[in-house]
Amino acid sequence: CVAVAMAADMLANTRVGFIGAGQMAEAIARGLDKAGVVPANKMCASDVNVGRMKVFESLGTSVCSSNTKLAETSNVLILAVKPQVAEKVVTDMKPSLSKDHLLVSIAAGIPISKLQDWAGEARIVRVMPNVACMVGETAAGMSLGKTATPADSDLVTTMFESVGKIHVVDEKLLNAVTGVSGSGPAYIFMAIEALADGGVAAGLTRDVAMSLAAQTVLGSAKMVLETKKHPGELKDMVTSPAGTTIAGIRELEDRGFRSALINAVVAGAKRGEEMS
Ligand code: NAD
Repeated sequence: CVAVAMAADMLANTRVGFIGAGQMAEAIARGLDKAGVVPANKMCASDVNVGRMKVFESLGTSVCSSNTKLAETSNVLILAVKPQVAEKVVTDMKPSLSKDHLLVSIAAGIPISKLQDWAGEARIVRVMPNVACMVGETAAGMSLGKTATPADSDLVTTMFESVGKIHVVDEKLLNAVTGVSGSGPAYIFMAIEALADGGVAAGLTRDVAMSLAAQTVLGSAKMVLETKKHPGELKDMVTSPAGTTIAGIRELEDRGFRSALINAVVAGAKRGEEMS
């Protein structure tokens, strides 16, 4: 009860500023507003692109003429610019940042140590979300900077739960998060495309095959999350003796389906390490 009251109290005093009002920022802003976690009128955005500011205005948020002004009006700042411009953006803001600011960076691959150097006293939380923010179903990992508090962790968790799911991990494991859920959507898009191709090869129209393939991935994921059963158990449930599914599974095992996915995740995590 105390934790819930504290979170509600914190949210009441939260003004969220988006540094960069691009696709990810818009997705998060829409999620926060829709879930009632932070209403649009308590959010603000700044962007060098006027068109993007107009999009935010249409959501009911205010806009700021500069990132520095944003820091004056917001106590939680979401760093949502591309990683290449992050250093300049944050160092330019440094004089207006204090320990009363929580800087939540979603910029891929930028370590907390660098963010802290650039931002000075602000508390830092680094989040690795994925593209499904845009449909409210992101799978994200987050790590806390040295001065970030448990209350900051709760706040960021509540915020990102409005657009999906988030887990706290050690920063060194954010590359593993990247391998599974950051890059994962691309693997699943490929799987959906291939399942649909199989359907077309077996005689279905493209539209029907694509819808069946995507809905099958959605339904299977829901079953794992909602039943909390091991996926192997769920697989056994739908695999009858000498049936159609075991014939397909045999093909997948023969082609190294599982090890291909395991290796893809490890390769993505390794590449993330090389890049950071
Ligand atoms: P985006 O290009 O849609 O948004 C970036 C925005 O920043 C643009 O609107 C741009 O005009 C603005 N911008 C550029 N310079 C600026 C400045 N000096 N001040 C203020 N705004 C400025 O990009 P996105 O896809 O929303 O990605 C944003 C961040 O999220 C990136 O750092 C990326 O690494 C991270 N991320 C993205 C995804 C994804 O799937 N898109 C997934 C995980 C993490």
